[in-house]
Amino acid sequence: MANIGFIGLGNMGGPMARNLAKAGHAVTGFDLVQAARDALAGAGGKAVSVAADAIGGAEVIVTMLPAGQHVRQVYGGPEGVIARAAPGTLLIDCSTIDVDTARAVAADAKAKGLSMLDAPVSGGTGGAEAGTLTFMVGGEDQAFARAEPVLKAMGKTVVHAGAAGAGQAAKICNNMILGISMIAVGEAFVLAEKLGLDKQKLFDISSKSSGQCWSMTTYCPVPGPVPTSPANRDYKPGFTADMMLKDLKLAQQAAQAAGAATPLGAAASSLYALFAAQGNGPVDFSGIIKMIRGGS
Ligand code: NAD
Repeated sequence: MANIGFIGLGNMGGPMARNLAKAGHAVTGFDLVQAARDALAGAGGKAVSVAADAIGGAEVIVTMLPAGQHVRQVYGGPEGVIARAAPGTLLIDCSTIDVDTARAVAADAKAKGLSMLDAPVSGGTGGAEAGTLTFMVGGEDQAFARAEPVLKAMGKTVVHAGAAGAGQAAKICNNMILGISMIAVGEAFVLAEKLGLDKQKLFDISSKSSGQCWSMTTYCPVPGPVPTSPANRDYKPGFTADMMLKDLKLAQQAAQAAGAATPLGAAASSLYALFAAQGNGPVDFSGIIKMIRGGS
């Protein structure tokens, strides 16, 4: 069992840190928000009120922060993780951020003799609570081998995607598929409505045919066919439209930098921007079907 410093105890990081403590690791956590610190302290971890106290004595440091700018801030500078971590500490960033920042921060860590992995997740807050997340990991083999048992305490599937940044690349490619496919499934259900085709019939057929996909069979955007999907609770998230938009923008940024043509990814990004601009940022991303139907 390891001494683990955990920075960023929000909707995802909170339950992830609790699962590490439940698995027997000594978890010292920091977040800017007092309530997030209290939740860890009440669940078998130790909460500290300055980041440095979560960094100093740790063998492994895990971060789960909103975006690239927060990762640069927490890792950089004289008070940051890279400056303050003891030699040999393994650094694991689980946030979803841009590939360039992931690579730049890992290079800064390497220059200080520290191993760093990017390890973004799929599975949402439900997966974080249940300890069933999927981790997509970028970094060196040896660091991955050290991280695997730690990640397994928070998730079910841990895949080494390649070198630094490969985890973030996998995450944005996956979520670009998801954003596009949710719009496709929404368009199909709206067309079915206009053609007088019963939604359950479309589901029964498409979920067993070539239109089958996760957006249809697990996260169906109309109420009824998949009782656990957010459509059945008025699109309460789940995974918000704001978060989908963030990931689609990251995909577009990476596509432009890499010279990849992603016209459907670009269209999905624009449609989610429009949906969010109508005040739907906090709504589940599958709620975009309401806009496709002509509402907002
Ligand atoms: P969140 O906003 O709930 O949590 C982020 C936490 O980081 C907050 O508690 C905030 O106070 C803390 N924080 C910010 N700056 C900090 C700093 N300088 N020092 C210490 N703490 C700081 O977000 P979340 O839903 O937990 O998401 C975290 C990451 O996981 C994001 O990158 C997101 O894209 C990704 N993600 C989220 C989901 C999901 O369903 N929520 C799913 C997959 C991936």
